[in-house]
Amino acid sequence: MKNLILHTEQIKDKELSRNFEEDPRTLPIIAAMIKNQACNFCKPLKISVKAFKIRELFEVEGHFETHIRISCSRCLKDFDTPMASDFALTYAREVPGLMDVLDEKEIELKLEDVGLLYFRGEEINLQQGIEEQVVMALPVRPLCAQNCKGLCPHCGSDLNQKECACEHTARSNQFAVLKNLKLDTK
Ligand SMILES: [Zn+2]
Ligand SMILES: [Zn+2]
Repeated sequence: MKNLILHTEQIKDKELSRNFEEDPRTLPIIAAMIKNQACNFCKPLKISVKAFKIRELFEVEGHFETHIRISCSRCLKDFDTPMASDFALTYAREVPGLMDVLDEKEIELKLEDVGLLYFRGEEINLQQGIEEQVVMALPVRPLCAQNCKGLCPHCGSDLNQKECACEHTARSNQFAVLKNLKLDTK
């Protein structure tokens, strides 16, 4: 059985449950991010989905979890962190007649407007939809710890390790600059 594929004939009135384990490197956007060192994955993606049919729409509700390695946005140190998220995707079968009236780009845009993903034939490939969810779940400003002190803007030393000599003067200098700015505008 191919990974991340659901067969529509198996999704009827009864809910279909499936578990997948996917190497994140097989997903093209994530593979590119790993290559650019934007993030790394220490564990495969564990994905569980439940699929059911509502009229002509296929609803896929799921959960994924993995472990990522990413750089802290304050101290720039790499750290490992678990990452997990729930998701819900709605798939619609592409209507062949529509292709004659609209071009493929237009259809894709129209379906995106209402949050639908589309598929052809009898197989729903979850790869693209799930990859999008994983990318969206990546932290925008990752922090190794909520109270990470970051790097000193002057000497660059990691303030989590030790207080550097220039830290306090750096802060008071910044305030002094602000004060001067205010005075100048008067
Ligand atoms: Zn940090
Ligand atoms: Zn310093």
